Amino acid sequence: MSDVGLDEVLDWFFRVSEIPRTSGNEKTISDTLRDHYERKGLDVLQDEAWNLLIRKPAHAGQGDRPGLILQAHLDMVGEKTSESCHDFATDPIQIVRDGDVLHAQDTALGADDGIGVAICLALLDSEDVHHPDLEILLTTQEETGLVGAKALTGVSLRGQYFLNIDGEREGVFLCSGAGGSTVEVSFPLAEASHTDNVWELRVRDLRGGHSGLDIDKGRINGIAAVAVLLVKIPDIRVAFFNAPGKFNAINREVHLVFSTQCDFSVAYEEWWKSIAAAEPDASASLARMGPAACQSSSWTRRLLEFLASADPGVREMSSSLVGVVETSSNLGLVEQDELEMKITASVRSSSARGRHDVETQLEKLAAQSGGRVQISGSYPAWEYQTENPLREQAAQIYSDLFHKAPLITGVHGGLECGVLHEKYPELPMLALGPSIADAHTPRESVSIPSIEKLLQLVLATVERIK
Ligand SMILES: [Zn+2]
Repeated sequence: MSDVGLDEVLDWFFRVSEIPRTSGNEKTISDTLRDHYERKGLDVLQDEAWNLLIRKPAHAGQGDRPGLILQAHLDMVGEKTSESCHDFATDPIQIVRDGDVLHAQDTALGADDGIGVAICLALLDSEDVHHPDLEILLTTQEETGLVGAKALTGVSLRGQYFLNIDGEREGVFLCSGAGGSTVEVSFPLAEASHTDNVWELRVRDLRGGHSGLDIDKGRINGIAAVAVLLVKIPDIRVAFFNAPGKFNAINREVHLVFSTQCDFSVAYEEWWKSIAAAEPDASASLARMGPAACQSSSWTRRLLEFLASADPGVREMSSSLVGVVETSSNLGLVEQDELEMKITASVRSSSARGRHDVETQLEKLAAQSGGRVQISGSYPAWEYQTENPLREQAAQIYSDLFHKAPLITGVHGGLECGVLHEKYPELPMLALGPSIADAHTPRESVSIPSIEKLLQLVLATVERIK
């Protein structure tokens, strides 16, 4: 038996949960851990983003094995119920044990990624695990755009394998992740003129969802759906177009005012029938309005052609990992002010080429339609590593321990592995985690047996990897 067991991991998880650590608020936890391990005589580096790198030399006789980097993120998402008085700046997370499950009292639990952190810290305390040289990398502000990992400069990693512990399902080996960017396309408004035959169209309560994780679920994007209808209406002129939402969520709601001299009732009925069949909870309303100031029909045509060709959804599936989306795009929101109409889209791909292709296509479409493009918030992909001795050895260890194979897959969302993969493209990487449900919500919970299995796998990997 080793001196790192479930009790030691849960003990660290409870201690970490005592210290407030929402994204951007990690200084105290970072300083506390820095001081703790400096007192123990370990080599601790803390950078300006409060990332920590703690080095622990190999256990006696293990120094010639390849060094292992374990990584988790210190921050958590500060979500709470509407009744909760919890102050994330000062209050400890109140953990509740309910049978085999941990959750928190009215807040997110922070098992994402507090369990990963706790496993790393328990390993640092160990005196009898036969580990090679260990580097424990604890990053900050992961949840708000991989900020800590991106800021990680001046630290160079020495290990030969990189194990991230920020997955959300036990038994799942994540082996690739998407990179992405935000694409804003602005159409400067031209002079508007008053016209009659004005209509107001509202669409509400589409299912929406995460622009990465839910993009392959066949959900209807409100902005694209409305564009498909409007582009068929002759001499249409838009007065107002607003589609609230988030850049990284599938659009659920559209509010539009436009004029046309044509009867489009048949096209509208057919269009709505096809949407309602796919989205039973959605609703739409169409109402006559008084005269309104509308953009010209040529201006409107250019806007609609852009929206109707932007083609949000899955573009390409992975050729290496079955059922994993390789490249996708999303239309998130449309905002209008006195000067312009701005469309915010996002692009994701687990290959640099895939992301570049979609960005270029959107730039071309926008240029043809007279839109101005700005690309921001880029983060790199973790491309699938065909040769990956860490994945292969860990999969064998998993099969030996649990008598079944792990699920080897990828995620169509951003992981810190992408940022590190860009800096260390040759470093074999793998991401693992316990089974967490409802992460980033006050219902977040983690399965205790899954923590135990994850720990067994991590310990066996640490002891056997060569
Ligand atoms: Zn996480």
